[in-house]
Parts: sequence; structure tokens; C-alpha cells
Amino acid sequence: MKKWRCRICGYIHTGENPPLQCPVCQASAEDFKPMEDFFSTAAGSAIKKIIIIGNGAAGMEAARTLRENNSEVEILLFSDENHPFYSRIHLSTFIGDNSSIEKITIYPKNWYEENRITVILNNQVVEINPDKQIVIDNHGVSHSYDRLIIATGASPFVPSIMGIDKEGVSLLRNLEHALQIRKKMDTFSSAIIIGGGILGIEAASSLNKTGKRVTIIELSDRLMPQQLDSDGSKILSHILETRGISVLTSTRIEEIFGDTQVEGIRLSSGQKLAAQFVVLATGIVPNIALAKQAGINVHRGIIVNERLETSRKNIYAAGDVAEFQNTIYGIWPAAVDQGYAAALNALGITYHYRGTTPLHILKVAGLEVTTIGKKYPDQSGEEQIVYRHPEAGEYVKLIHNREYIQGALVLGVKGISYRLEKMIKKNVTARHIIGDLASGKWEVLRKNS
Ligand SMILES: Cc1cc2nc3c(=O)[nH]c(=O)nc-3n(C[C@H](O)[C@H](O)[C@H](O)COP(=O)(O)OP(=O)(O)OC[C@H]3O[C@@H](n4cnc5c(N)ncnc54)[C@H](O)[C@@H]3O)c2cc1C
Repeated sequence: MKKWRCRICGYIHTGENPPLQCPVCQASAEDFKPMEDFFSTAAGSAIKKIIIIGNGAAGMEAARTLRENNSEVEILLFSDENHPFYSRIHLSTFIGDNSSIEKITIYPKNWYEENRITVILNNQVVEINPDKQIVIDNHGVSHSYDRLIIATGASPFVPSIMGIDKEGVSLLRNLEHALQIRKKMDTFSSAIIIGGGILGIEAASSLNKTGKRVTIIELSDRLMPQQLDSDGSKILSHILETRGISVLTSTRIEEIFGDTQVEGIRLSSGQKLAAQFVVLATGIVPNIALAKQAGINVHRGIIVNERLETSRKNIYAAGDVAEFQNTIYGIWPAAVDQGYAAALNALGITYHYRGTTPLHILKVAGLEVTTIGKKYPDQSGEEQIVYRHPEAGEYVKLIHNREYIQGALVLGVKGISYRLEKMIKKNVTARHIIGDLASGKWEVLRKNS
């Protein structure tokens, strides 16, 4: 059987052909790429039991890979959430539509049973003892392991703003948060989104669609500061404003005011904006506390090598909690790649993870924004070409070294990001089409990729 990976969310499908639609992110069959079949080796007999902490993209990819490569090993998976594996990336759209939980559930409960993966939901691992090779759960029960994979993900970063603990200030990281936001939907007409990154913009768009007045407040001078440059951000701001979403960049919030319930925010300029609801979208903090307490080397995340090994024997880490070559990716495809690599190595099958080409896609209806790979040229003679058509809401920036494209930012031009991603990841030469691309002749990509 062949394996196909969704280029957008990393979901892996097994079958002769790719699925017509990705069950996680609804991408089309064209967005699935064949994966090489890596291994079918069975694990060494010394590895009898593997524990995974975390039921997100990294933990589930690890569980799936373990079972696929070893029919015998005992797999025990802990989650402090109460839901089987769901698409976290769809929470930002889920808050604004009426879809059911099933619609965003990737693997229902019976999937675990069918794959003989013991999942313990709603139970937090509170301690790891690497010397004894045990973890202790929330009920004080200890569980031994031969290998441990830490996939505890990340939590939202909460900035220290006066009044941040008021009623009506919400996080958006897990399904419980999203359900809470839905529950409160009738209690507000205006919302402030703190943070103009992808999550903030998607949440703003969802609330806006339900008829709320929404303002995005971003501290830096542009939207999607990790991905966009200032020209791209201006075009994006303009598009959002035409949809009725206000955008304030270079803006600091001094206070969230109100009695016990949010009534509005005060900016550092002194200006006040009324709102009854606030969503925090101010970045993530990897959940490293468990690892730190166990004496595992951490920096911002848990430090891992190419085999996803941590500093302690038989313990691996993957996903938003892991720091690989000074990078915490914070994206779904990287969590999947790392979960996969950690699982193979935990089984004793050497597999070197080489990093994930960053891919960011803004999931706002009718608005395509994709960034792939490098954002700026480096000192080694790289160049950039920029195509602008502001009236049409189009902006494309390509980073290249005259031979290969190394980064792309695509805003508003449909159907080219997939081809550019393919060229970047597969190192397809672009020497003979650079001139055409600079003048927006995108059809050359079809022939070249
Ligand atoms: C609303 C939203 C939209 C996003 N959109 C995109 C997108 O479009 N594209 C993209 O690439 N990425 C997106 N992301 C980021 C993406 O979801 C993450 O990168 C990915 O989910 C990371 O997977 P993970 O398995 O490392 O961590 P998580 O998905 O966070 O999973 C970790 C799990 O471990 C559990 N856990 C933590 N500690 C313990 C413990 N001690 N015991 C038991 N369980 C524990 C957590 O509760 C959680 O369930 C988005 C994130 C959010 C919140």
C-alpha cells in the first residue's frame, strides 16, 4: 500500500491513491504527495513497552508509526484532554461555525482499539523518573516504559497585561477553549484579538463571519510578523479591513478594563476601545515543565538531536515541545515529521530527521496566504524578486540564488503555492524561469514543477 502525506496539515493516508479530500484540513487530492516507504522492520525484542505523553499531532503520528512498524510493542498514550485526536488547526474556524466535534475528530475512540493503542484520556502525567524508567500519572499510579516519547505540545503565551484575568478573556489552544468561546458567543458583539499572527487572523475572521465587530491588535509593525514582510502585511490588512475587520499594528495594550467582565481595552496612546470579549493569540510556550523536573536538557523547548533523542537515555521528544537545532517549529507538519522520526528511533530503527521546510497557510475563506521556506535573502548572494498587484490583492515574493528558489511568499495568487513548495522542497532548478516569474507569468511553474 502507498502512503500519501497532505502537504498542508501532514495527515498521512494509506491507499493506492490519495483521498479526494483530506479528512483533517479538507485539502484536495492534488495536495497529497506520495511518501517513500521507509521501513517495515520489526523492533528489537528488548523494546516491549512505549509510553507517549500527549495526544496531539506529534503523539498520534508517533503512535501510528509505532504500530505500523511493530505489531507487538505495547503502546500506552496519555492525554490530559478529554477528547480523542482532533484537528487542532481547525479550532480557529470551529469557533465560528456550527460544525460538530465529529467533523474535526481525526481518529475516533475505536481507532485506538483497532490499533491496540491504550489511550488514557483526561489523565495528566505529573512526573517522569528517567532512572527508574517510569512515569507517574495524575492518580499517583506509576507506569514503566522501555522508551518514552514526550509530545506534550505547547500552551498559549499569556502576556502580562493589567486585567488579563477578567471574565471574557479567552485562550484558543484546545477543544475546551473553543467550546467555551462558542458558549459565550451570544454574550458579546465586539471582540479584540490580541496578536496578528495566523491564529489571531483566523480567529478574527471566524468571529467576524458571525457578525461580531472585530479588531486585531498587533504589537509589531505588521501582520503575521513571523511570515510576512511589510508590503505583504499592508495588502493583507487592506483585504481584512474591506471585510470589516479593523487592524491596528505597532499598538500596545496597557489595560483590559471592566468590573469583573471585560468592557474594553486601553491602548498605550490612551485611546480606549469598547469590547466585551478578548481572544489571546500571542504565541506559544512549549510545555517543558515535566522534562525539566526530570533533569532532561531544555532551552526554550526540550533539546533533541537528529534522532529526536533527548539528553536522557530512552527518552525522545517531538512536536511543539521539542527544540531541534535552535528551532521550535510550532506547526503541524513539523510535529508529524518529528513524531514519525521519534517513533522509528524509539523502535530501534535509525532515522535522521533533517528539519521541516516551514510552511504556513492562512485558512481564511477566499484569501490565500502561503509562506514557504526562507523569508529574506541571506548574505551568500541570494536575491529576491517581488511581484505586486495591490489592486488585485496580489503579492508574491521569491527568494532565489539564480539556480533554486529557496523561499516564497504568496498572497492572493491562487494555485501556485503548491508548485512553488514542490520546487523548493525538491530543489528543482528555476534558472530559466526566474525572468518570467518576476513578471508574474505563473504558467511557467506548471511546466517546470
Ligand atoms: C487554533 C490553532 C490553529 C492552528 N493552525 C495551524 C495551521 O494552520 N497550520 C499549522 O501547521 N499549525 C497550526 N497550528 C499549530 C499546530 O496545531 C501545532 O503545531 C500542533 O498541534 C503541535 O502538535 P503537538 O502534538 O506537538 O502538540 P499539541 O497538539 O499541543 O498536543 C499536545 C497534547 O499533549 C497534552 N499534554 C500536555 N502535557 C501533558 C501531560 N503532562 N500529560 C498528558 N497530556 C499532556 C496536551 O493537552 C495536548 O493534548 C494551530 C494551532 C492552533 C491552536
